[in-house]
Amino acid sequence: MGIKTVYEDCDVLVVGGGMGGTGAAYEARYWGRDMKVVIAEKANIDRSGAVAQGLYAINCYMGTQWGENNPEDHVRYARNDLMGMVREDLAFDMARHVDSAVHKFEEWGLPFMKSTETGRYLREGKWQIMIHGESYKPIVANAARKSADKIYNRIMVTHLLMDESRDNRVGGAVGFNCRTGDFHVFRAKAVIVAAGGASHIFKPRSVGEGMGRTWYAPWSSGSAYALAIQAGAKMTQMENRIVLCRFKDGYGPVGAYFLHLKTYTQNAYGNEYESTWYDDTKSMVGEYIDHHPTPTCLRNHAFIQEVKAGRGPIHMVTKEAFQDPHLEEVGWENFLGMTVSQAVVWASQDIDPKYINPELTTSEPYVMGSHATCSGAWCSGPEDLSPEEYFWGYNRMMTVDGLFGAGDAVGGTAHAFSSGSFTEGRLAAKAAVKYVNDLKDEKINVTDKQVDELKETIYQPLDNYTIGRNEIVSGTVSPSYLLPIQGLQRLEKVMDEYVGGISVNYMTNDKLLERGIELLDTMEEDFEHLGAEDLHQLMRAWELKHRLLSSQSVAQHTLFREETRWPGYYYRGDHMQLDDENWHCLTLSRRDPETGDWAMEKAPVYHIVD
Ligand SMILES: Cc1cc2nc3c(=O)[nH]c(=O)nc-3n(C[C@H](O)[C@H](O)[C@H](O)COP(=O)(O)OP(=O)(O)OC[C@H]3O[C@@H](n4cnc5c(N)ncnc54)[C@H](O)[C@@H]3O)c2cc1C
Repeated sequence: MGIKTVYEDCDVLVVGGGMGGTGAAYEARYWGRDMKVVIAEKANIDRSGAVAQGLYAINCYMGTQWGENNPEDHVRYARNDLMGMVREDLAFDMARHVDSAVHKFEEWGLPFMKSTETGRYLREGKWQIMIHGESYKPIVANAARKSADKIYNRIMVTHLLMDESRDNRVGGAVGFNCRTGDFHVFRAKAVIVAAGGASHIFKPRSVGEGMGRTWYAPWSSGSAYALAIQAGAKMTQMENRIVLCRFKDGYGPVGAYFLHLKTYTQNAYGNEYESTWYDDTKSMVGEYIDHHPTPTCLRNHAFIQEVKAGRGPIHMVTKEAFQDPHLEEVGWENFLGMTVSQAVVWASQDIDPKYINPELTTSEPYVMGSHATCSGAWCSGPEDLSPEEYFWGYNRMMTVDGLFGAGDAVGGTAHAFSSGSFTEGRLAAKAAVKYVNDLKDEKINVTDKQVDELKETIYQPLDNYTIGRNEIVSGTVSPSYLLPIQGLQRLEKVMDEYVGGISVNYMTNDKLLERGIELLDTMEEDFEHLGAEDLHQLMRAWELKHRLLSSQSVAQHTLFREETRWPGYYYRGDHMQLDDENWHCLTLSRRDPETGDWAMEKAPVYHIVD
C-alpha cells in the first residue's frame, strides 16, 4: 500500500480533544512537566465534540466557596436522578474538584453572567450557572494547545495498540488522517480515551432530508466505548441510554426555559398531565416517584404515556413568560449560544413563542456517560474514597493497564456535564502521569506485526470499494460491498425495533433483544465488506464499526438487567417493575477480544454518601 506511516512516541496520549481531552492535556502538563503529551483528535480541537457550537450554561458547579452546595449534595442529586445507580466515589471525586476547573475557565476568558444582587455566578438552577458560552470550546482548546507537545487534528483513531511485553496493558493507538490519508502510529505509555459518546445508534426522529439533526452531536460515534471494548476493557451501565425531552425538530434545550423562564408543560388540551401518571409510575417504581427532584426518566415516562394515551402533542407554555421583554430575549438568546437551528426551525414553521406554545418531543436514545445517564468503562476510583471493588491503583484507569478514561468514556458518573468532564480529564491525567512515572524505565513493546496488521484492516474499506465498484455500472447498490450510510441505516433500524427505540415507544423484551443481538452479530460480519469511496467515507466506515460495537454492548447490557429500572429511558416488557431486591447493582460486561464473546456480571453499588 502506498500509504505514508507517521510515528509518534509519547508518554501520555489523549484520544479526543473535547472537554475531557482538553482537561487531560492541561493537567498532564502540570504534573508531567518533562513528559511528552500528545492529543489525537478526529476533528479540530477548536470546535470539536459536544461543546463545538458553544453552551449557554455550565451545568455542574458546586459554588462551595459561597456555601451553595457541597460535593455530597451533588452525589445525592445524581444518585436520585439515576434511580440509585451511580458510582458515588467517582461522582464525589469529580464534584470536589469541579469548582476549580470552572474558576480556570473564567481566568482563561470565558464570560460568566453574574447576579447583580450578590455578584456571584448567575444560577439557572441549583447546579447550573449561566455563561456567554459561544467560545467555550476555543477557550479550553487554547489551554490544551499551550499544554500539549503536539496536537494532531483530523486523526480518526480506530484501534488501541497493546503492549506485547505484558498482558492486558495498552501500548498506544493507531488511526488515519481524514484529509491526507496518512497512517498514524502513536506509541504511548499511557492512553486517556476521551472520544465522546454515541449518537446515531438508534434510528433518529429526523430521517431523510432531516438526517443529521439529532440532539446529541451527530459526529459522536461511540469511539470512547468501542476503543475500550476492542481492547477488552470492562464496561458498565451500557443499558442506561438517555432519552431527552426537547423542543420538537430542533432539539433545542429546555433547561433554561424550565429553570430561568419558569415555563411549564401541558398536553394538547391545555391540561397538566404529570400528576395524572403518579399512580401508574408508583406501581412500577415504588417510592422513587416520591423523590425530589423527580428523576428525569420518570418525567419522560409521564410524557410518553400521555402521548400514547392520545393527548399529545405536549406543549411548553411560553406565551406567559415571553410577555416579559427580558425573558423573551433570554429565551431566544438561549438558542443562539448553543442550538441556533432551533430558532431557525421556529422561524421556518411560523412559531413565535410569544404567541404560540411550541411542541416538545422525546428524542431517540443516545449513549453517553456524562449527561443524565452513566454508560461507559468500568474505571478505578480515587485511593482515598473507593471501596476495594472500585479501586485498582490509579484513578480513572480502566481494567486495561495504562488505559484511562474521561467524560463520556467513564461509566457511573452521571451529571458531570462539560465542567465535570473537563475535571475528569484532569483527574485521569494526574493519575496517568503517576502511572508513567511508576513504570520508570520499563519499555512498551509494540511490534511492527501488530501495527502492519492494523494498517491493513483500517484501509480495507477503500480496497473493497475500488475492487467492487467494477461490478456495477450505476447507482449505489453493489453485490460485494455496503456503503457506510447503508450500514448505518441498517444498524439504526435494528436498534430501534429490537433494543427499544422511538418506533416501539422505547419497549423491548428478552426475545426481541436475543433476536436483535443475532442481527447485530450478522452485521458485524457484513461490515467486513464496507466500501469507502474516499477518505471521508473511510472515516464514516470506522465510525460505523465503532457504533456497532457500542450497540452490541448496549443490547447485551439491556438483556442482562432483568427489570425496568428507568421507565422513560426504556422498558423491559417482560419485567415491567423496578426490582431493588435483585437489581440494586451495577452491570458489567467484557467482550473477549479474541473470541468476541460477551461475559456479563453484577457489581455492587456502594452508597458512600448518606
Ligand atoms: C446537546 C448537548 C447539550 C449539552 N448541554 C450542556 C450544557 O448546557 N451545559 C453543560 O455543562 N454540558 C452540556 N452538555 C454536556 C457536555 O457537552 C458533555 O458532558 C461533554 O462534552 C463530554 O465531554 P467528552 O470529552 O466526553 O466528549 P466531547 O466533548 O464530545 O469530546 C469528544 C472528542 O472526541 C473526538 N473524537 C471522537 N471520536 C474520535 C476518534 N475516533 N478519534 C479521535 N477523536 C475522536 C471528538 O471529535 C471530540 O473532540 C451537553 C451535551 C450535549 C450532547
